[in-house]
Amino acid sequence: MTTFWNTRTGDLKPYVPGEQPREEDCIKLNTNENPYPPSPTVIEAIGQAACATLRLYPDPHCTILREAIAEHYRVKIEQVFAGNGSDEILSYIFAAFFGREPVLVPDITYTFYAALAQLWDVQLKAIPLAPDFSLELADYKKPCGGIIFPNPNAPTGRSCALEALRSVADYQRTTVLVIDEAYGPFGSESAVPLCAEYPQMLTVHTLSKAYALAGLRVGFAIGSEQLIAGLCRVRDSFNSYTLDRLALAAASAALKDQAYYRTVIDRIIKTRERIAPLLRAQGWTVIPSQSNFLFISHPQRRGIEWQRFLREHKILVRHFNMPRISEFLRVTIGTDEQMDRFLDVISP
Ligand code: PMP
Repeated sequence: MTTFWNTRTGDLKPYVPGEQPREEDCIKLNTNENPYPPSPTVIEAIGQAACATLRLYPDPHCTILREAIAEHYRVKIEQVFAGNGSDEILSYIFAAFFGREPVLVPDITYTFYAALAQLWDVQLKAIPLAPDFSLELADYKKPCGGIIFPNPNAPTGRSCALEALRSVADYQRTTVLVIDEAYGPFGSESAVPLCAEYPQMLTVHTLSKAYALAGLRVGFAIGSEQLIAGLCRVRDSFNSYTLDRLALAAASAALKDQAYYRTVIDRIIKTRERIAPLLRAQGWTVIPSQSNFLFISHPQRRGIEWQRFLREHKILVRHFNMPRISEFLRVTIGTDEQMDRFLDVISP
């Protein structure tokens, strides 16, 4: 604590992102990035946008990108919000909708929610996952000040069915229900169609994973016009120009090249389905995953020891020193060659 900080800054528990190593020969399986490059049309769009018009501010309404998103999801542009990565949108969500009563979150989930809760003075109430790490959605049918969880959940990778989400939305009519679909394209059903029926439901998406654009920082949210207008009010009280001209052009191009991304996503899913049984055959516990990572443990070493051992072999994975999951590793699905090297290193 320094004398220059206010008490809020002193009390914060900031999120710790995964390591971004300086060495280029590491196999990076620690931050759920896409191992494949973005669509060539994205790179072309950045080239075109990198011109003299950079002297002008970007469109504060992110129109071209929101149009591309609205067209892809068949929703109105007024139902789409774009932001500088989905983390930024999550921050606006906490500021705009939460704070009156405790917000329900799974006990094991994306740890950034806890950091945001501190920042925006929101109480969280942890709802335990089942012993097999699945979400017990019946436990979310109780009075609260909002609900947020990823589907598929992180870092477990398990997803829940749309009908289960619908039953929560039927109960929670007056509190905002946020479904963070960061990993949705890798195997879970999107809740976007439910947003038409439930004005309290908001889905959050990122271009960092499925669209291979973690370095661009683009995310978006889809929901009722009321919710989107709330997010705009907070955004415009904080930073009117969250997406730059290059990001707007590149992200719009990405949304329009669905054929390329379908191939990339299918390849990642195929690798995941190839690797999971090979791990199980070697005695690993592998939580069924509908995401671009596997959540795994093995009795031979503690979770932290596996992480150190892999780091020595220049393979980065994520370990969370937290109750219930300290023996687990979260391993991003890389290319087939990267995963074969991972298997080689961990094999007896
Ligand atoms: N939600 C979840 C569940 C995540 O794991 C991540 C990635 N750390 C994000 C949101 C944020 O993604 P980004 O800010 O890159 O869009």
